[in-house]
Amino acid sequence: MNLILLGPPGAGKGTHAQRLMNELGIPQISTGDALRQAVKAGTELGLSAKKYMEAGDLVPDELVIGIVEERLKAPDCQKGYILDGFPRTVKQAEALSRFAKIDVALNLSLADEVIIRRLSGRRVCLKCGGTYHISTLNGRDTCANCGEKLVQRKDDAPETIRNRLSVYAGQTAPLIDYYQQKGLLRTVDCDPDATVEETYDAVRKALDLA
Ligand code: AMP
Repeated sequence: MNLILLGPPGAGKGTHAQRLMNELGIPQISTGDALRQAVKAGTELGLSAKKYMEAGDLVPDELVIGIVEERLKAPDCQKGYILDGFPRTVKQAEALSRFAKIDVALNLSLADEVIIRRLSGRRVCLKCGGTYHISTLNGRDTCANCGEKLVQRKDDAPETIRNRLSVYAGQTAPLIDYYQQKGLLRTVDCDPDATVEETYDAVRKALDLA
């Protein structure tokens, strides 16, 4: 299955992508993770992307399209893949349609106030991509998967979160219509009080896995 996970920042794309990756045995391709690694490694791509990411703006289309186009050529993508955080503009979606055949675009929908609460308490592992919320960490500050110290992403600062939400509404939300018109859209209305397991069940149902 070639799957796109759509939805605002903090809706749980990364969390559910990791579960789907384990269940389906296909890779999660996160442009956000790829860009953060590039920033950490100080590559040319990282240096170009850093200022946009820290402001909560989108990195220019041509930088991210190239990352995904190259990544999809790898042998582990031949049985399918989960795109997490890409495409984020109509231009990216149009480019993607030239080098990939998408089966489903799954839209995780969640209210803004819940997103703000989630993102402001989010802690992440920059080594393995693990994501946590301070409310469930009980003071622990290391990753349960790999032991790396957890950090708060710079773009999870409150004013940056607001900008990311407005960037999402202006540039990414139009993709909901775009994939609806192609007949590929499925939506999960995420219940803010549901556990991750409950939401993942809804994701599985939407993908006909349950
Ligand atoms: P994410 O981890 O998906 O929330 O992405 C973090 C940041 O990386 C975003 O706020 C953007 O600055 C950048 N980014 C990730 N994916 C894309 C994309 N498809 N297009 C443009 N910028 C992106």
